[in-house]
Parts: sequence; C-alpha cells; structure tokens
Amino acid sequence: MIPSVLPTYNRAPLSFVKGEGAWLIEADGRRFLDLGAGIAVNALGHAHPALVAALTEQAGALWHTSNLYQIPKQQELADKLVAETFADTAFFCNSGTEACELAVKMCRKYFHDKGQPERTDIIAFQGSFHGRSSAGIAAAGSEKMTKGFGPLLPGFKHVPFGDHDALHAAIDENTAAILLEPVLGEGGIKPVPDQCLKGLRDLCDEKGILLIFDEVQCGMGRTGKLFAHEWSGATPDIMMVAKGIGGGFPLGAVLATEEAARGMTAGTHGSTYGGNPLGCAVGCAVMDIVADAGFLHEVNRKAGLFRQKLEGLVAAHPEVFKGVRGSGLMLGLECVATNTDVVAAGYDAEVTVVPAAENVVRLLPPLIISDDEIGEAVARLDKAATAVKTALAEA
Ligand SMILES: *Cc1c(COP(=O)(O)O)cnc(C)c1O
Repeated sequence: MIPSVLPTYNRAPLSFVKGEGAWLIEADGRRFLDLGAGIAVNALGHAHPALVAALTEQAGALWHTSNLYQIPKQQELADKLVAETFADTAFFCNSGTEACELAVKMCRKYFHDKGQPERTDIIAFQGSFHGRSSAGIAAAGSEKMTKGFGPLLPGFKHVPFGDHDALHAAIDENTAAILLEPVLGEGGIKPVPDQCLKGLRDLCDEKGILLIFDEVQCGMGRTGKLFAHEWSGATPDIMMVAKGIGGGFPLGAVLATEEAARGMTAGTHGSTYGGNPLGCAVGCAVMDIVADAGFLHEVNRKAGLFRQKLEGLVAAHPEVFKGVRGSGLMLGLECVATNTDVVAAGYDAEVTVVPAAENVVRLLPPLIISDDEIGEAVARLDKAATAVKTALAEA
C-alpha cells in the first residue's frame, strides 16, 4: 500500500522535535549537531531570537493579503536587496525552483520585447541543480531528474562543467542566456573559479546575451560574502535566491537589473503567496543580520577555522576522505569511502551532514555556528570516520 505521504524521499530514521542554534533535538532528548541546516536554509540556525520575534510580531498583525495590495514588508525587503546587490529590482516567490521559472521567463521576455524572439535558449552546465519544476529539471537536464517526465520544456542546452570550447560552440543566434550556480551545491560543492565567472560575464557582454546566477544554495552569506559571485567581481543580469533568505520560512526571490527586467510589466508574472507579509518580515530580519559586514567577517573567520580542522580530519582518515573543497561555510568532504555510509555513521555520532554528487559529503552549518561547535563537529565527524574505517576493515 502506498504510504500516506507520497514516497518521493529517502528519509533517515531521525525525527526532530526542537531546534536550538546549531542543534537539532529528538523527542528522546538526543542532541544532533546540525551541519546540514535544512540544506543551507537555516542560515541563522534554529529558533534565532530575531527571526522568532519578526515572525511572531508579524503573525499577530497580518499574515497575508495577496499582491492585490501594497505590502510594506515586501517593499522593505526589496529595498534592502537592491541596496546590497547588483540588482535594481526584485520579485518574490516561495522557493528556488519558482525563482528558476521566473529567471527563464524573464530572459525570454527580454529578447522577445527587444525584437529578437528567436533568442529563447539557455545554456546550462551538466551536474547543476535548479529545482524540480518543469523548467528546473529541463535546465539541469540530468537523466536522473528528467527521465519519464517528458516532453521536457524545450530551449535548454547542456555543456560539461568547465568545458570552455563546448560552451563557445553552444552559443548561437538562438541563445538567450547562460545559467549557472557560482558554487555547485547538489553537484558536489564545486566553486566556479573567479576567473571563469569574469570570463562568462565578458562572453555574455560580447554576445549580447544574459547571465543568470543561481545563488539559491551559495547565496545569503554562505560563502562569506552576501552573494558568492561577489568574490569574483562579476555580476549577473538575473539572480535566483531562496533557501537561506527565509531562514526556514519558504521564501525565494529573483533579482535583476533594470535592463534585464524590462519585459516584466504588470500582468506578466505573479504569485499568490510570493512576498507575503510573514515571509518578508522574516526575510528582512535575515537580511539585517546576514548583510552586516561584521557578521560576514565572522563567517569567513569561522570558515577558515573549520576548513583547517577538516584538513586535519582528512589527513587522519585517508581510508575515508581524500580532500576538502568548497567556499566559506559551504564545504565538501571528498570521500574515498561511500559518502552515504559517512552520512549514516554521522547520524550514529549525532551529527547531521548531507550527501552530494561526486561522492562528496556536504557541510552546510548554520552561519551562527560557534568555534566550540566547530570543534565538536569535527570530533563527531572523526568518530563517524573511525566507524566507517572499522566497518571497511571488517568487510
Ligand atoms: C535547492 C536549490 C534549488 C531549488 O530550490 P527549491 O526551494 O527546492 O525549489 C535551485 N537551485 C539550487 C542551486 C538549489 O540548491
């Protein structure tokens, strides 16, 4: 018999009833150090007082009105995002994949209105992830996500990650945009080198096409800048944001330059829930904390500490790990053992980590994790690695 919850997930046998900072607590009181943060969503950890206050204050005043009316908190959040980024304008939705939908629509509409309606195609990279909507799976293009769901949304081309020749060859008179994650998340925590992001910006300018960054996972302070592309100095025309921006409340956004957003006039797009008072109240509170230079400085300092300790962990367990990759507090342990075995051993050691492609274990701790908690995290990962090593020796 089919379970009452559609069985599309492989869930771990863990169930949490409470969260405190970087900790997740089970009903029996077991405390897990959370290095997954709801897949980079709980950027400020669990039950952050400022977020709880923002949410409960708004909940007592007004939850939802629809976008038929002015929404002051939405305006405030848009103003904050515009002030802190390349963007001139923002649209709010509820998830990363909805942000992908608008990014695709926006760039097609841009060229349509510009008198180049043949420019509909978006070039994306193999191994990327852009969500599970029809546009999202077509954009990522992997067999795993698309098989059985055809016909797929047309207008996407895929080139191998890092293959400049294939990228150049893929651009033609139908190309509208290049889409990529500045740091691939699901794809295995792979930063795109700064030089490449700059090169892509130049290439898009030269060809007269748009550049779309998907910062759903790598944005909102995760890499130690508010948005990961800031490290390179290259800016996109359109950017997808979600996950960390709501700190756990479902919230997404598309940020764009005035030029790229030209086609998106009244009536061209919308969302019932997108940008509602509850979500935007929380988003404003997240932005006030994460966009602060002192906060980002701390993220960078802690990222350095964590990475250094992880290098030590890798050196101590060559049978299990072979390297560390990533940027800021978006880190990956490259495994020799099977990454899902490491994740399972982590559960036994009461630390939650997340698998990614390329046999990587992802570490995406809340950005508020303390130095002591980083030390504890590595101690628990060490315990997990020892268990994996023992199991390998016994096999
Ligand atoms: C998670 C993710 C998405 C999809 O976000 P949802 O909120 O699950 O729809 C899109 N792009 C990237 C890079 C992601 O990590």
